[in-house]
Amino acid sequence: MKFAIESRGDRLSDTLKHKMKAYLTDFELTYDDETPDIVVSIGGDGTLLHAFHRYQHRLSETAFVGMHTGHLGFYADWVPEEVEKLVIHIAKTPIQHIEYPLIEVIVRYSDEKKEERFLAMNECTVKAVEGSLVLDVNIKGERFETFRGDGLCLSTPSGSTAYNKALGGAILHPSLEAFQIAEMASINNRVFRTIGSPLILPKHHTCLLRPLKEMEFQITIDHLSGFHDNVSSIQCRVAEEKVRFARFRPFPFWKRVRDAFVAED
Ligand code: NAP
Repeated sequence: MKFAIESRGDRLSDTLKHKMKAYLTDFELTYDDETPDIVVSIGGDGTLLHAFHRYQHRLSETAFVGMHTGHLGFYADWVPEEVEKLVIHIAKTPIQHIEYPLIEVIVRYSDEKKEERFLAMNECTVKAVEGSLVLDVNIKGERFETFRGDGLCLSTPSGSTAYNKALGGAILHPSLEAFQIAEMASINNRVFRTIGSPLILPKHHTCLLRPLKEMEFQITIDHLSGFHDNVSSIQCRVAEEKVRFARFRPFPFWKRVRDAFVAED
């Protein structure tokens, strides 16, 4: 089996990376950061986002597992004291996978530029570079509302505990094939009106955002951010691809939510 290790780059994560690399090589696994079967991410959820984007072209061949060297993560739930245990699992146990849904984002342009396609593991956010974001929100082919405000956040179930949660969105269990649209400071008065509540869309319901005037957009895909002009539409839906995590022990999602946000013990 071929493995790769993505480290956050701090001293502890790098030390653990070298340790794991040596242990796994002793077990006759091959270090291969081009075509790994499994990627171990050491750091935090942010590190796993980096690993996901590095290997997003081979999601059906690569599984991920995360170790956190800071606070408990949603994608990173192994702790440094468990290095040996994790190594033995990877080297000796048949790998079981669980899969989480992703969001597909397609940006289309009004000029000759080709459309661009992105996959997000947490979320896509859409903001205007200057002034308020003004666009029509279409759902399943029908105009739903005109949004005016700071921006929109379209999140996956596993990303619902990240930016989406800070916006008052719901936490979705990652077994749900759905995505959520949460508003960022919408303008609501006698003239402008938006739904105001987060919306949860099932698989195969597409959300199409259409600008009402020429504006430059800032679009983020997880930790990655880009500026886009001449945008004719931004299309979001649940992707066909999924991200696979290697599961060596149960760690129920709601327990992780409680441990990360509620539990004091
Ligand atoms: P960052 O600004 O350095 O860190 C953002 C924080 O979000 C980190 O504490 C990270 O955990 C945590 N996080 C990432 N994915 C998560 C998830 N699925 N559930 C719960 N927490 C999660 O940025 P980054 O590390 O490059 O991560 C990019 C992410 O930051 C974006 O995808 C977005 O979700 C999030 N973000 C959040 C806000 C907000 O809450 N107001 C604003 C902007 C962006 P670790 O410390 O374990 O890495």
